[in-house]
Amino acid sequence: EARRLLPVLREIADEVGPGAGRQGRVADYIPALSGVDPAAFGFAVAGVDGEVLGVDGWRTPFSIQSVSKVFSLALALAGGGESLWARVGREPSGNPFNSLVQLEHEDGIPRNPFINAGALVVTDRLLTLTGDARGAVLDLLRAESGNPDIDFDPDVARSEAARGDRNAALAHFMAGYGNLENPVAHVLEHYFWQCSIAMSCRDLAAAGLFLARHGLRGDGSRLLDRSAAKRINSIMLTCGAYDAAGEFAYRVGLPGKSGVGGGILAVVPGRCTLCVWSPALDRHGNSVAGVDALDRFTTLTGLSVF
Ligand code: GLN
Repeated sequence: EARRLLPVLREIADEVGPGAGRQGRVADYIPALSGVDPAAFGFAVAGVDGEVLGVDGWRTPFSIQSVSKVFSLALALAGGGESLWARVGREPSGNPFNSLVQLEHEDGIPRNPFINAGALVVTDRLLTLTGDARGAVLDLLRAESGNPDIDFDPDVARSEAARGDRNAALAHFMAGYGNLENPVAHVLEHYFWQCSIAMSCRDLAAAGLFLARHGLRGDGSRLLDRSAAKRINSIMLTCGAYDAAGEFAYRVGLPGKSGVGGGILAVVPGRCTLCVWSPALDRHGNSVAGVDALDRFTTLTGLSVF
């Protein structure tokens, strides 16, 4: 599958790659992210058979940021099951990823697991389940990508914590409603470190394959049942691009999850995963060239969920 699709990635990279960085802005809320080259571009495809191929900067590690939220959600559902949904919803928020406003109206229950408030609840759940949420996410990413060298970026994690007032406010607010089981400082630390993981398009596309394989891991064992895998894909489709999730679904037509490091992981269930990276972001925090590349991919190949 990857071999068959590689020429399409090449064609898209030749069209989109040279313009990467001309529109949008690199995330600048922490110095460790603002120094990244806005014109960088990488694109990888992983077939359900496990073959991964890509073009341009597909082997360059970047900060995965919110793409990590897919993996923490998968682990929290795999380990703790449906009881998670008593503490976090699954509706698109229509608000920025770090928004506070809906929490007060909804009694400290975040709208979905892919905005920051929801991801903090998921990390909290994973902490209770494993004792080491960030370690559990890292282990899953290493195992599924087959790359034991994947690691946290301590610079990113520390500066995230130093500029973490907004996330701390979200966590304290939810704790005030009794929606965190662990101390706020502990939850925040695991969340910041989880977001700081550095990976390439190659490794992220490979690591996400269980979502294209209806829950099966690379070694053939089951991480999620079919229904749970379907549900995560559904939430990626409806909530994976923050307050631009509707626009993403409209243009791309695939489950996807973006991060402010400029990465986007997308899933074609039963076929393949795609990971694209380009650090210049639109005002919602999604990679401009990344969304453009995925839009072209589904248009050219007809591979979407619709
Ligand atoms: N670590 C970032 C934050 O919590 C992740 C945000 C993102 O990728 N949207 O603000």
